Amino acid sequence: MITIKRFVVNFVQVNCYIVSDETNECIIIDGGCFGKNEESELTTYIENNHLKVRHLLNTHLHFDHILGNAFLSDFYHLKPQANRADEFLLKSLKEQLLMFGCPYEVTPQAIGNFIDESDIIHFGNTELKILHVPGHSPGSLCFYCEKEKILFSGDVLFQCSIGRTDLPQGDYKQLCEGIQNKLFSLPEDVVVYPGHGPQTTIGNEIKYNPYV
Ligand SMILES: [Zn+2]
Repeated sequence: MITIKRFVVNFVQVNCYIVSDETNECIIIDGGCFGKNEESELTTYIENNHLKVRHLLNTHLHFDHILGNAFLSDFYHLKPQANRADEFLLKSLKEQLLMFGCPYEVTPQAIGNFIDESDIIHFGNTELKILHVPGHSPGSLCFYCEKEKILFSGDVLFQCSIGRTDLPQGDYKQLCEGIQNKLFSLPEDVVVYPGHGPQTTIGNEIKYNPYV
């Protein structure tokens, strides 16, 4: 039995998910919390629910998804995990922030473990498969729980939209092909939890998504 808690964080309204199961172990997906209030919202939820954090996962390394990485790494003594193809983005964190009009200095947290499709994420009784779907960023990952029919899609797939492809190493054709081959081949009742905006289902997106 999976419990998914969504926090909408920072000035770009990123979905940060805390995913736990019946063992009370959990993972944090896209810890984009920014500032003391958002940080304590997350840690308070984890504490109040007696959760043990096993992994910090990033769907990709755009600034808005990683703003809380340094804090969370420090607080939980865990290093974030992401795909190596996005590592270059850490070097331009400051430029990315400025592009969005954010003048704050944020120190990028180094990635502890690079993950790809040959890895499986374990916590409690739960397993997540990794799907590599580049095009929004070259290292964009989706995390799929086959047993629970749940997909965390990052900025690859949104409700009736897809990730923008005008950022460094973005590729519209590659993104659409990846969504077609790797996501639209999943069962239609899989619930999709994206990096921004409301949840949807694979079936809904096959039917109504105008971009793919
Ligand atoms: Zn992004």
